[in-house]
Amino acid sequence: EEKIVDFTYDKSSEKKRIAILTSGGDSCGMNPAIRAFTRAALIKGAQVFAVREGYNGLVTDSIIPLHWGSVAGIINRGGTIIGTARSVEFRTREGRKKAAFNLIKNKINNLLVIGGDGSLTGANLLRCEWASLLKELVEDKAIDEETFKTHETLGIVGLVGSIDNDMCGTEITIGADTACHRILEAIDAILSTAVSHQRSFVIEVMGRNCGWLALVSGLTTGADYILLPECPPEEGWENAMVESLEKGRLSGRRCSLVIVAEGSIDSNGKPISPGYVRDVLEKKAGHDARITILGHVQRGGIPSFCDRYVSTRMAVEAVNYLYNGNILEPVLIGMHGNRVVRAPLMEAVKETQAIGALIREKKFADVVKLRGGIFQEAHTIFNICANLKRSPVAKKGFNVAILHSGGPSPGMNPAVRAFTRLGIDLGYRVFGVFNGFSGLAKGDLQELTWMTCNGWSVMGGAELGTNRSTPNESNIAAIIKTLQDNNIGAICMFGGYNGYVGITELAKFRAKYSYLQKVALVCAPGTIANNVPGTETSIGADTCLNNILDALDKIKQSAVASRRLFVVEVMGAHCGYLCSMAALTSGAERAYTMEEGITINTLVDDLNMFVDRFKREHKIGLIIKSESASETYSTKFIYELFKEEGKHLFDVRESILGHLQQGGIPSPLDRLNASRLMYHFFQLLQTEVIDNRQTDLSGCIGFIKGKIVFTPLQEMSEGINHKYRRPQKQWWLDLLKLSSQISVSRGEAKIN
Ligand code: ATP
Repeated sequence: EEKIVDFTYDKSSEKKRIAILTSGGDSCGMNPAIRAFTRAALIKGAQVFAVREGYNGLVTDSIIPLHWGSVAGIINRGGTIIGTARSVEFRTREGRKKAAFNLIKNKINNLLVIGGDGSLTGANLLRCEWASLLKELVEDKAIDEETFKTHETLGIVGLVGSIDNDMCGTEITIGADTACHRILEAIDAILSTAVSHQRSFVIEVMGRNCGWLALVSGLTTGADYILLPECPPEEGWENAMVESLEKGRLSGRRCSLVIVAEGSIDSNGKPISPGYVRDVLEKKAGHDARITILGHVQRGGIPSFCDRYVSTRMAVEAVNYLYNGNILEPVLIGMHGNRVVRAPLMEAVKETQAIGALIREKKFADVVKLRGGIFQEAHTIFNICANLKRSPVAKKGFNVAILHSGGPSPGMNPAVRAFTRLGIDLGYRVFGVFNGFSGLAKGDLQELTWMTCNGWSVMGGAELGTNRSTPNESNIAAIIKTLQDNNIGAICMFGGYNGYVGITELAKFRAKYSYLQKVALVCAPGTIANNVPGTETSIGADTCLNNILDALDKIKQSAVASRRLFVVEVMGAHCGYLCSMAALTSGAERAYTMEEGITINTLVDDLNMFVDRFKREHKIGLIIKSESASETYSTKFIYELFKEEGKHLFDVRESILGHLQQGGIPSPLDRLNASRLMYHFFQLLQTEVIDNRQTDLSGCIGFIKGKIVFTPLQEMSEGINHKYRRPQKQWWLDLLKLSSQISVSRGEAKIN
């Protein structure tokens, strides 16, 4: 397992002087990255500097020191506090020579660049030219030989700040998730008016070479048609589009939605504008069509949970690299699943730029390949789910059913929608079971048609209903009857821990009921708590964390006038995932989880820490506590203790966030991943049940190390801590330490 960060203070590293710059278009998440990088580097003992306004600041020597406090209060702010720009001068060798001189003048020997492929190309160029630039500076007598020798190497590390998600070497770029949030907020709002008036909307989203935003927003809003630069439509696409939209209308859709990526082209490379699409809809289909160009709203706002998370992880890894990596080879820090990865900087940039050239050369199949697996998968799912014009396929010999179990989790409805449409497309009859296993026992189920789930991709809650019932001796005979009567050959339980128990119980009854021996039993993780086995993340947790961050941002603002410590309790049952992630991405000083426990010593130490902070004029303190962190030290107890002990110095407020955490419309990531899981469910049925004729398939599907994998029932059960109803191994435990390390300054962290 990778070490998340080595926080040992390194005395020799005081000589390390590291500068950060943000360049190109801004993106949400740059600030959290600046914060995490600055603090992780300060903890190591480095001196940290900000270069203001992108490469312009290097050329003009606008370089300032960053302290621990310089990056306080920015984790929830969009944009970049150090400014960004496009620098014409840096594109010239003369400009880069000035940049090199200014870096040396400030004795900076390491540089973090956060920007798009252009910015990272610039960084790499500076790195490649470094030796020759220094030589010239010696010849010009701008620097002496001694200085030349002490600055022979320049460590460079890059993070991709780009809302387009257009970079090779990372699955996700900083800012892309927040941009999807902004787009979905807008489209969800537009849909309600579109439905009322039976209108058609053509929406343009950003993305010059990359259709990621259009693809994800198309899939997750249930759009009818999307246009992407990577996959231009065939000649005559206008008729196909109109036909597809008409089919939707005839089936009962009250509006039509076409999403156009900014850089969309046809198969001849000719740009497709939203205006052209509107004209087609008006002339060929007689629609009342409107255009909305979302523009710069997509760049702004409050960074989403995902962007705060990935930027923090990437930034800390950038510090790791500068301390432990081979700095002669510049790297790009990216993400693969929940993990940080390093890729050679120049290769990643070259591959990314090759995509632009391939699009110009119309080699679209190669482009899609380079975009990677998730892009291709999402495109396939979109095409299936939006395509009412299906050609008939051979019917399968059995029917499939989906049910929920456990608490409601945002993402359940998008999952059912994808399950239904993907299933029908493959030739299955699809059933939705109401109210979990008890509904199954009562025969409370309905065949789902293509249009039953129309509009469900944007809906929170669970239309099928969910509860905590499980199969048992008293209801099993009725369950079997329902399955038999409806010829159900596969069940997908999309839900939480209870559902995993339910499926396990059902599998045990196979010994007694032969019908069950040929029913595939598969769990898919749909719970905000992220406490189920066989997966690193569950659907709903992302929406929940965005809800929590939204509440925390508001709570923090309420403290501006006074010195206040908040003790905020979050859900998660016995699993501290929500607590730990919320702390990491809100800048909380402390997180209390059941996994780490709370002792009287913890409380005394933390009390002293807060007293010390408030004495040093801090205005606000934040503790996030998991609901089951301790049976003894309850939220109330902690509140009373801190209130009493801190009464002359600060106020204490408790806040139990409660059920707002389970509600709300599902986030883009939850909608996307719910659909992807369902796609993998049907792939699993095909390979294991139909092709390999495995009749008693049982287990779960989930996200592990960036892939969707199947874990058989036995391994799934072994991976469970039954007492505390959570997985035995939890990958995120080390992050608990990280969050408090970068939120509370330590005495030894020397501030320059
Ligand atoms: P975005 O995704 O917003 O386009 P970007 O980083 O790709 O971000 P660019 O405008 O391409 O944005 O680049 C930002 C800055 O990086 C440029 O203004 C320039 O200063 C520098 N830069 C880009 N390409 C090069 C290059 N080939 N050589 C030197 N500097 C470059």
